[in-house]
Amino acid sequence: MDLGIRGKRALVCASSKGLGRGCAEALAEAGVELVLNARGAEALEATAAAIRAAYGVPVLVVAADITSEAGRAKVLAAAGEIDILVTNAGGPPPGLWSDWSRDDFIRALDANMLTPVALMQALMPGMMARGWGRVVNITSQSVKAPIAQLGLSNAARAGLTGFVAGTARQVAGAGVTINNLLPGIHATDRAISLDTGVAKAQGISLDEARARRAASIPVHRYGTAEEFGAACAFLCSQHAGFIVGQNILLDGGAMNATL
Ligand code: NAP
Repeated sequence: MDLGIRGKRALVCASSKGLGRGCAEALAEAGVELVLNARGAEALEATAAAIRAAYGVPVLVVAADITSEAGRAKVLAAAGEIDILVTNAGGPPPGLWSDWSRDDFIRALDANMLTPVALMQALMPGMMARGWGRVVNITSQSVKAPIAQLGLSNAARAGLTGFVAGTARQVAGAGVTINNLLPGIHATDRAISLDTGVAKAQGISLDEARARRAASIPVHRYGTAEEFGAACAFLCSQHAGFIVGQNILLDGGAMNATL
């Protein structure tokens, strides 16, 4: 399917690896010019080189912490006019509800709520003025079904979800859609780090922790960054202009719910 977005320009945050990279690759395959971001310059340059070689699109990289004001300013200054924004950042650490301090919550809110909000505030006015734009926020299944040990994620991402629900309806008339993609477990470094924690806590091997988790998912496997990226690229396509303010769960059927 031709996604109809060849020549558009996308900023994909936190995209040297994992789900962000999956989104970047799928957009590049659709002919979209990219601005990629991550903190580590080496992996970022390597990802950009691989994408340029595979898809022949221009790729600009900006190494910066997207959750800091200075990092965002650097990314936005380099990015220029952006038609497609994919927000993403690392997820908060696991823990116990009783242990998190105010500072822990502020850090999680900064990374997983206020950073995407700030990026939307910076880039959507330009999209609206040009009459076309797409925003996809990478959030989490934790928005629909809380994950006990990821209370910081449950809380911060719920805040972002509320902001998007209200804002998406205000900008849609100007041709800009905002939607959220909610990953369930996907085979990325983040999953390795979460599974390593489970393995340690339960005194089992990493392979065993992974096998148990996979067995709990109806498709009996983890999702892939490629599948995730394809869903993102579709939401960014010309065909998705009527999809507004939605929360789309990509979890292999893990959440047992009718709606
Ligand atoms: P990942 O494989 O660990 O990749 C994270 C990417 O983000 C890397 O490129 C990393 O590069 C970059 N990054 C992290 N913090 C950043 C920051 N502050 N500024 C700029 N770049 C940053 O993670 P993932 O699995 O793709 O997860 C992406 C998001 O989805 C996370 O918020 C995660 O919590 C959420 N999620 C993932 C899953 C899953 O199963 N994978 C499930 C639910 C939700 P640098 O480290 O070099 O910056």
